Amino acid sequence: MPLRMSTLFVRTLRDDPADAELPSHRLLVRAGYIRRAAPGIYSWLPLGYRVLRNIERVVRTEMDAIGAQEVHFPALLPREPYEASNRWTEYGDGIFRLKDRKDGDYLLGPTHEEMFTLLVKDLYSSYKDLPLSIYQIQTKYRDEARPRAGLLRGREFVMKDSYSFDVTDEAFLVSYQAHRDAYVRIFDRLGLRYVIVAAMSGAMGGSASEEFLAIADNGEDTYVRSPGGYAANVEAVRTPVPDPVPYDDAPAAHAEHTPDTPTIATLVDHLNEAFPRTDRPWRSADTLKNVLVVLRHPDGTTEPVAIGLPGDRDVDLKRLSAQVEPAEVEPFTDDDFTRHPDLAKGYIGPGVLGEKNTSGIRYLLDPRVVDGTRWVTGADVTGSHVIDLVAGRDFSGDGTIEAAEIRAGDPAPDGSGPLELARGIEMGHIFQLGRRFAEALSLQVLDENGRLVTVTMGSYGVGVSRAVAAIVENSHDEAGIIWPREVAPADVHLVVTGKDPVKDPEIFAESERITAELEACGVSVLLDDRVKVSPGVKFTDAELIGVPTIVVVGRGLTDGVVEVKDRRSGDRIQVSVANVVTHLVEVVGAAQQGDP
Ligand code: ATP
Ligand code: MG
Repeated sequence: MPLRMSTLFVRTLRDDPADAELPSHRLLVRAGYIRRAAPGIYSWLPLGYRVLRNIERVVRTEMDAIGAQEVHFPALLPREPYEASNRWTEYGDGIFRLKDRKDGDYLLGPTHEEMFTLLVKDLYSSYKDLPLSIYQIQTKYRDEARPRAGLLRGREFVMKDSYSFDVTDEAFLVSYQAHRDAYVRIFDRLGLRYVIVAAMSGAMGGSASEEFLAIADNGEDTYVRSPGGYAANVEAVRTPVPDPVPYDDAPAAHAEHTPDTPTIATLVDHLNEAFPRTDRPWRSADTLKNVLVVLRHPDGTTEPVAIGLPGDRDVDLKRLSAQVEPAEVEPFTDDDFTRHPDLAKGYIGPGVLGEKNTSGIRYLLDPRVVDGTRWVTGADVTGSHVIDLVAGRDFSGDGTIEAAEIRAGDPAPDGSGPLELARGIEMGHIFQLGRRFAEALSLQVLDENGRLVTVTMGSYGVGVSRAVAAIVENSHDEAGIIWPREVAPADVHLVVTGKDPVKDPEIFAESERITAELEACGVSVLLDDRVKVSPGVKFTDAELIGVPTIVVVGRGLTDGVVEVKDRRSGDRIQVSVANVVTHLVEVVGAAQQGDP
C-alpha cells in the first residue's frame, strides 16, 4: 500500500522550531518525522517510524548474519543487579530511578550488561554452551545532563545492544572481531561517513574499546588522526611522555616579585621584561599553571583536585571528565577558595598542593611534567612566582592525568606523525569488558578440565534512534533531508500536480496507475495526491521530506512523459509514461545492489 499524503498523519512546517539549532533536529521536526514530548523525549510520526524501523532492519540483518540471537529485556529493572555491579551508585544522577507500591527500588535501564549476564548465568553452566552472542533493540533511558539536538542526545532513545560470552580471551577476540565487522557493514549500509577510533571505556570499565564516529562538524565528540593511521577519540589520546631531564646543574629555585600577573599572558610579559632569558624569550610553555576543580563522586561526596599543566595549554573538560568518570567535574568556586585560605588565587603553586602539603588537595600533573623539567609557577603568595622550580627535585604530584587539550600538530602517541582534529557523532561503541560483570555477578562455567572459570564478555552498542539524526546531519541541503535509499521512508515520492480529479482526471488516474504498478513491483511510493494543493507546495514538501527519487506527473502527460528527479544530484530527466515503471524499478534495484 502506498503512503498517501492526503491522509498521512503528518504536518510539514514552513518555519524552524524555536528550540532547534542543528539541521537534523530542525529538518526532522519540520518534515514531520518526530515531535517533542518533553526535553530529550520524542514521539515518532509515521514517516519517522518507518525510517527508524528501516535502520533497525539493517542492524538486525547484520547482527543475525554473525549468529547473534535477538532477545528482548524489560526496560523496567530491579535495583539488585545494578547494586552488585556498583552501577546503581556509579550512575549517580544519570539514570531514572523509581519506586513500586511496596517501596522497592527500580530503574529504567540505561544499558543492560547486568541483566544479560544474569540471564546467561541462569541458563548456562558449561564451556560447551559458549560462545554466545545475544542482542536486543530496546528503548533506553538516561537522565542526560544536557539532552541535545533532538534525537542526537535523548533521555529516551533506541539502542541496539549486544553482549558476547566466551570462555577464553582468544575466543573473545573472535566474537569481538565479528561484531566489529558487522558494525562496518551496518554503517556502510546506513550511508554514513564514519571513522573507527580508540575510545575510553567510561562507566563500562573493561580494558579497551573502539567507537564508530559519524564524521560531522556538529558532533559532540572530537577525534584525532595521524598520517600513519592512528585514530582515537580525543578523550583516549595518551600524551607521549618525554624522557626525564638531568637537573644536577639546574640553579636553585628562587621566588620573585611579579606584581599584577594573575594570568599566563601577563606573567610571560613580566618575565621577559624583568627577568629576560639569555637564550630566548620566555614562553607560556615555560610556566606551570595549576587549575583547581571539584570532583563530585557518585556517593555525593566532593573532593577538590589541582591539575598542573604547561601554561600554553588549557584543561579540556571532556578529557578530564573521561578520566575521572564516574565522578563529575564541577568548578572550584569562591566559597571553595574561602575554605582553603592557603590558596593565593592566580598565584597557586605546588608549594601548597599535594597530599603532603598544607591544603591536602590532590595534585595531578600533566604527563609532560617529568623529572628535571624546569618551571615558573605560583609561589602561593599574591604577586609572586617561583622561577627554576624543578620537577622531581622541588616538587612532585600525587599522580598524572590526561586532562590537557590536544592540539592539531601534536605528535601521535605511536610516533605515526602529527595529529589532525575533527568532530564526530558517536554511533557505535564496542567494549572489551573482560570479566568485570561476570565477576561481579559470578558468571562462571565449567571448562574442559572441569574447572570453574569466569566468563569473558564484550558489549556492543549502536545508537539506532541517534542514527536517524546522524544520517540527516550527513545528508541534507537547504531544501531538506536527502535519505540514503536503504533507510528512506519510501523509494519514490510521486507528486500529482493536478488540482483535483475532476479538473485533471488524466493526471490523477495516471498517477494512481503508476503508483499501483510500482507497488506491485515492490517499489514503495509516497503519493502526494492532495487535492487543491498547489504544485509548488507539493514540490517544497517533497524536497523537505527527502525521498531519494521524486516523480512529477503533470502537463507532460500530453507528450506522454513524466519527470524523474534525483533528490541528491538535482538531475531531472523526462521518461516516457510507458517506460517509467521499468525505469524506476531499475533505479531502486540498482541502489539496492549497493549503488548509493
Ligand atoms: P555518549 O558519549 O554520546 O554519551 P555513551 O558513550 O554514553 O554515549 P554508550 O553507553 O557507549 O554511549 O551507548 C552505546 C550507543 O548508544 C552510543 O554509541 C550512542 O550511539 C547511543 N547513545 C548513547 N547515549 C545516547 C543518547 N543519550 N541518545 C541517543 N543515543 C545515545
Ligand atoms: Mg560510548
